[in-house]
Amino acid sequence: MQAPTRHFSWAELGDPPHRYQARTRHLAHHLERLRTHRSDRPLFILSAYRTPAQNAAVGGASRSRHLVGEAADIPAGYATTAQAAAAGFTGIGSRDGWAVHVDVRDGPPARWVY
Ligand SMILES: [Zn+2]
Repeated sequence: MQAPTRHFSWAELGDPPHRYQARTRHLAHHLERLRTHRSDRPLFILSAYRTPAQNAAVGGASRSRHLVGEAADIPAGYATTAQAAAAGFTGIGSRDGWAVHVDVRDGPPARWVY
């Protein structure tokens, strides 16, 4: 199957099932924008789509955006929350010095620290 976008593969985005692939393509589109803001350097993805079992294993929220393929975690140092906002992500969480969570949720934008 064709990759969701030029620089991101289905595998690195967690191989979401068919019903979530449109959301993951939307996520990947914004990841490409973030990559552009980062001078086109490769972006490392820690975690994107998660199955319910994978989400439980990492202590993810029960309604995590990762469960529907519309979220990605990026190691801190690869992206800042300001760059994530400039790339159009609507959900942005940061875990001090560890990771930046980005998602493409519908509805009001959300920002948090976890
Ligand atoms: Zn996350």
